[in-house]
Amino acid sequence: LCPRHPRADDLTGAAHCCGHNVQITNMFAVAIGLQAVMDELAGDVVLFAVPAEEMIEIDYRNKLREQGKLKYMGGKQQLIYEGAFDDIDMAMQMHVETAKTPAGEMGLGSTSNGFVSKLIEYHGKVAHAAQAPHEGINALNAALMGVMGVNSIRETFKESDYFRFHPIINQGGTLVNCVPDYVQVESYVRASNIQAIVDGNHRVNRALKAGGDAVGATCVINDLPGYLPMRNDERMNALLRENSNPIFGEANVYQGPHITASTDMGDVSHLMPVIHPWVGCISGVLHSAEYEISVPDVAYIKTAQALAMTIVDLLYDDAAGAKDVLDNFTPALNKQSYIELLDRIAKGE
Ligand SMILES: [Zn+2]
Ligand SMILES: [Zn+2]
Repeated sequence: LCPRHPRADDLTGAAHCCGHNVQITNMFAVAIGLQAVMDELAGDVVLFAVPAEEMIEIDYRNKLREQGKLKYMGGKQQLIYEGAFDDIDMAMQMHVETAKTPAGEMGLGSTSNGFVSKLIEYHGKVAHAAQAPHEGINALNAALMGVMGVNSIRETFKESDYFRFHPIINQGGTLVNCVPDYVQVESYVRASNIQAIVDGNHRVNRALKAGGDAVGATCVINDLPGYLPMRNDERMNALLRENSNPIFGEANVYQGPHITASTDMGDVSHLMPVIHPWVGCISGVLHSAEYEISVPDVAYIKTAQALAMTIVDLLYDDAAGAKDVLDNFTPALNKQSYIELLDRIAKGE
């Protein structure tokens, strides 16, 4: 939701402002371009329009999970689980970027943070906020203390791990007359590698629980599978660079830095070679009221051209390029060990 965006839906505030329309446009544009040459290519190209790329509204999605309507809260996680990637050898996705990719530039993907998804509840005791606050246990104060506790250990996280904890309060109380007896917080614990996520998450949980202890509230932490850190395939990236150079101009094509955000493509990258370029074509911050597409031909045409040409290079000549990529790729996980990993995280292990 980005309700302050000028084109947000009046009633619901709906406006995602993350360029997912650009992704869909690129997908169709690649398909239209490839139709002319598919007879010359050895292999199939499958178009995936994947919902729920971002793991947001954790409480809502966790309820769907508990109701058995979905098993995982991220789009590609669920599709991997359902078998949609079983007959796929390699994958590519693009995303718009603003923080690190200037407008007009093609940033080749490198690595990204992964994360654990967290639903944090503080249970206190209701009482009249003015008449009898001494009879209450203030869950909001517990939550604020918990977050302050995490802030108190921020300097202990190594900069090289790109640690991130960025909570929001979903429910901070009901009536101002009442001592809040239930507060719900959601957050991620992110870092660049699994060990730092596991270690950081343990320390964050200790601090969050201490907030509850300080005021006598109960803190319940539900850790759920987030996304795995991403890595891009070097050989596929080299092909994308070759094809992007004439389209974007060599000076505008570069190896992007580590991305401290996360994507469900990280999960896919543990199973098969992937590329995930970040394309500069917007102004304003993602998910903000100022977000605008600023370079439409980069957003909708040039990127699709570069991706389509890369697919041609992979599958032309009896798919020699694709075979080279696969011959040099060792998956970090297979589908079974991937599902086991997610399920262990969901069990709090
Ligand atoms: Zn986004
Ligand atoms: Zn997005």
